[in-house]
This record gives sequence, C-alpha cells and structure tokens, in this order.
Amino acid sequence: MAQSQSSVEVSPMAKSEETIITCEGINKWFGDMHVLKDVNLTIKKGEVLVILGPSGSGKSTFIRTINGLEPIQKGHIEIDGVSLTHDIKDIEAIRRETGMVFQQFNLFPHMTILKNIMLGPIWVKKKPKAEAEKIARELLERVGIPEQADKYPGQLSGGQQQRVAIARALAMQPEIMLFDEPTSALDPEMIKEVLDVMKELARSGITMLCVTHEMGFAREVADRIVLFDGGEIVETGTPEELFDNPKHERTKLFLSQIL
Ligand code: ADP
Ligand code: MG
Repeated sequence: MAQSQSSVEVSPMAKSEETIITCEGINKWFGDMHVLKDVNLTIKKGEVLVILGPSGSGKSTFIRTINGLEPIQKGHIEIDGVSLTHDIKDIEAIRRETGMVFQQFNLFPHMTILKNIMLGPIWVKKKPKAEAEKIARELLERVGIPEQADKYPGQLSGGQQQRVAIARALAMQPEIMLFDEPTSALDPEMIKEVLDVMKELARSGITMLCVTHEMGFAREVADRIVLFDGGEIVETGTPEELFDNPKHERTKLFLSQIL
C-alpha cells in the first residue's frame, strides 16, 4: 500500500527531470549559408537557459526555430510532446505554448497598453472581455506598471514598453518564454527594471530561454548556459563551469572580449 502510494507521488526532483524541449540535429541554411550546424539541446521543464555567443553566431535563428518562426531543413524539434512539423496545426499548438519577447517591443502603437495585453487572450484564447481585462491588469501589476494601463506605447519609456511586451506574452499563459536580447535596445538605466521582471519570472518556475549579453543576469539566474559560435554549440555548462572554468578556446576568447 505504502509502495503504491509513493509510486504516484511526484517529487519536485522528478518533475524537474521532465523534458519540455528537445532539439535533435538541427540544421538550417539561408541560401548557401549554413547557419545552424547539428544543434542538439534538451531542456527540462522549469529550466532557465541562457544563450551566449558572438554576433552572427545563430542565436536568434536558433531561438526562432523553437516556435516555428524559422523553418529548419534538417533535424527534429519537439515541444511538450508536440513535434514541430510543417503542419500549421502543430505550429499553432507550439506557438500557444511559447511566449516570445524581442529586442524591439513590437507593441501596437494605436492601442492602449491594456488592449495590447488583452488581444491574445481575446482573439487566440477566446476569453470573454472581462476575463481578458482581469488577466491584463494582474499582469501589469506583476511587471510593476499597473498605472500605465490606459496609456499608449509611445507614452511609455523603453523599459516600460518591454515590461508590457513581457506581460503580453505571459497573457497567453505559455509554458515557455523565449527572450531574444530583450534589453539590448534599452538605455542603461532601464535595463535593470526589465531584468528584475525576468528574474522574478525565472523564480516562478516557467521554462525560459534567454539570448542576452547581460553576464550578471546569466550568472545569477541561469541553470545552464550554452555558448554558440559559428552556428554550433561550442560549450554547455552551469554559470560557474562556463565563467570560471571554460573548457574551449572559443569560450575563453568570447568571455575575454565581453567580460
Ligand atoms: P545572432 O543572433 O547570433 O547574432 P543570427 O541568428 O541573427 O545570429 O544570424 C546567424 C547568421 O544568419 C548570420 O550570418 C546572419 O547574417 C544570417 N541570417 C540571419 N537571418 C537571416 C535571413 N533572414 N536571411 C539571410 N541570412 C540571415
Ligand atoms: Mg540575434
């Protein structure tokens, strides 16, 4: 009896061992240019992965393949049990699971902040308007700008707009959040407010993939770091392993240039 009970118990450890993203032998070409070369990566549910690497190394392309924004020519991607095929149904299923935040905030300029966040819940999740508004207001609270609800994107600072972009992605209740250099377009004094929201998110247990050059954030928040160079994963490790004891020359070179 005791045995059968323990067999159905899910310990936190067992849960964190669950794979949510599998990338096997990912290859992508833009014309003749081979931009992703046999990328293999498995990500566990709740894991925070930081992707580092020089400009042009394929980081954005890789992160965009994960939600089907960039088709791949070879390899296999599976998100939460769904294979990413060319079938639009699979792509839509995966898009619903993944929120994405870009360097540019891409908010709709003619809509209020609240409406920007309500759009996805209403049109994609088919939520009633009142429920969508409740979700949007709660998320604005969570990212620390509830008082901006009725303003337009152009009236907000870059840091505030990026926090709205994060709230908008979260409104779809994704399992996975993808960030592509979310602070790179921001003035220095606004970087922290966005990183603080991302840190809170990381602690909440959502699975996160972040392309960033913010080394302090990477060291503090990442469970694991991967270094891309020339379309390949050169090295993978914990922040301590990668920063304090890099194994590959290309990692050492990259770190010497950035730190
Ligand atoms: P990173 O994000 O690491 O800076 P990218 O993934 O943006 O790198 O780019 C990887 C390589 O692919 C670069 O050489 C870039 O010029 C090229 N590339 C990216 N997007 C396109 C595209 N849409 N068409 C052609 N080449 C592209
Ligand atoms: Mg990029």
